[in-house]
Amino acid sequence: MSEGLVLLSGGLDSSTLACNLARNGSRIEGIFVDYGQSMAIAEMRAAKFVASWAGFNLKIIKSPLDKSLAVGCLFENRPRKWETNFVSFLPQRNMFLLTIAAMYAQQKNIKNIYIGVIKTSATPFPDTTVDFFEAAQKALRKSYPGLTIHYPFINMDKASIVSLANKIGLPIDATFSCEMAADHHCMQCPSCIDRYWAMRCKIND
Ligand SMILES: [Zn+2]
Repeated sequence: MSEGLVLLSGGLDSSTLACNLARNGSRIEGIFVDYGQSMAIAEMRAAKFVASWAGFNLKIIKSPLDKSLAVGCLFENRPRKWETNFVSFLPQRNMFLLTIAAMYAQQKNIKNIYIGVIKTSATPFPDTTVDFFEAAQKALRKSYPGLTIHYPFINMDKASIVSLANKIGLPIDATFSCEMAADHHCMQCPSCIDRYWAMRCKIND
């Protein structure tokens, strides 16, 4: 039986989280949610690669959002020029993902859910804070007592994640983190830019 369920998007952060847990001997399972984002195929390909590379099972859930809810750059599939007020925030996304993960975890009697949020230099999205995760855990425990949400990277920045990924030996190029293009790193969105600079930043461990 798995001890933990990792929300795996195929991006660098969640992939490093899952692989680090697996490497440290945790019996984990990954869960990938296709909610209709335009990069779902590329993300899923990366998530499948990571799961097979690290040797854990991956559950794929298809739960596409209705078109009226699928708004913003995650659903547009068109790389744009850099916009200073670029927003990739999809309100309630983390609650939605955690709810799906909790439903699956409860079926499988898995008590721990892991999510790979990290520290960013910009203002964090409201659903990536400790306050949010504590509240989400409290709400989800009403239906599933004993469930714990873990967010062990919340105080780590992207460069530290790259450093950890390198230490594990994770093939970073196989992960996919873009928030705008469906099948390549657009090099315009905040995720691509963070990833680019972090990979070029030297870290003194
Ligand atoms: Zn991008």
